Amino acid sequence: MAWRHFRLHTPVYVRVDRSGVYHSYPELPGGPFESLDAFESAFHTYARGRSTDTSKETNKERLIRESLEWSDGTRKVATSLQIAERETNNVQRLVKALLDKKNEDQDLKYELEHIVHWQLICEGPNAWYYHFNITMKTKGVNDDAGSVNLFFAEATRVQRDTPGYFLCCFCRIDPNGKDVKCHGCTDNGSIHMKHPSTHFHCGQTDLSFGYDACNDEVCCNAKKMEDDDEEEELREEEERIRESFDYLDDVELMEKLRKKRAELLALHSKIQEDEEAACKD
Ligand SMILES: [Zn+2]
Repeated sequence: MAWRHFRLHTPVYVRVDRSGVYHSYPELPGGPFESLDAFESAFHTYARGRSTDTSKETNKERLIRESLEWSDGTRKVATSLQIAERETNNVQRLVKALLDKKNEDQDLKYELEHIVHWQLICEGPNAWYYHFNITMKTKGVNDDAGSVNLFFAEATRVQRDTPGYFLCCFCRIDPNGKDVKCHGCTDNGSIHMKHPSTHFHCGQTDLSFGYDACNDEVCCNAKKMEDDDEEEELREEEERIRESFDYLDDVELMEKLRKKRAELLALHSKIQEDEEAACKD
C-alpha cells in the first residue's frame, strides 16, 4: 500500500507480514505496528512533521513555511538533482517493500544491491506499471549465496482509495542475453532495460500512447546540471514566493478584504432568505 499525504513529498509504503504486522518504508517511529490504527496514527504524526515549536508563528510565516517546505523540512523548490534523488529514493523504498514481501511469501533470501534501470509506464487510465532492472545478492547457505545477479521485475499499481503495488513478474536475466522488445520502455526512451523472453505483461503492444520521461535520462541529466546556476534560480523563486505573501502586512488592504468578505456573506444570506421566502409563497 502507498500512503500519501499532502504534506509529504513521497508516499510511505506499507507491507503487512504473515503475522499481520505493518512495516513501513521509510521506517516510522514506533514501528513496526501491530494494527492499521497504530500505523495510521504514526503516519499522521509523521506527516505533521518537525517537532520544533511553530505555535509562535504568524499566519504569514506559517503560509510561507508551508509553501517552501515539506513537513520534514526539505525544500519544495528543489534542484533537478534533488528532485531526481528524491524520486530515486522513493523507488528504492518501493522496491525494498516489494522484495521483502516476496522474500517472506516465498521464503527467499534476496537482498537488493542496486537499481540499475527503472521506468514508469502508463498504458491507459489506471494502468500504471514499473519496469526495473535490479542487482541482488543471494543470502543464506545455498551454493550461490553471496553471488550478485541481475533481475527484471514488473510492478503493477492497483488503483484504490489507498493504491497498492504488487510484483507481477520477477526473474533473473542474463545481462549479455538478447533483449526482448518492450514498447513501454523503448517508447519512453529507456533503451537499456533488459527484459525476460516471457512473463512480463506491460509493454507487449505498441499503444503509441502515454509517453513519459525516460527515468534513467532524467536522473542522469540531473547529475550533470550546474548546481550553482540552478541554486541561484531557486533562491530567486523562493524569494518571489515569500514576497507573494507581503499583502498580508498591508493593514488597510486586509481590512478592506475583511469588510468585503463580510458584505458578500451577508448578501449570500439575504439571497438564501429571499429564495426560501419565495418557495413558501
Ligand atoms: Zn519494459
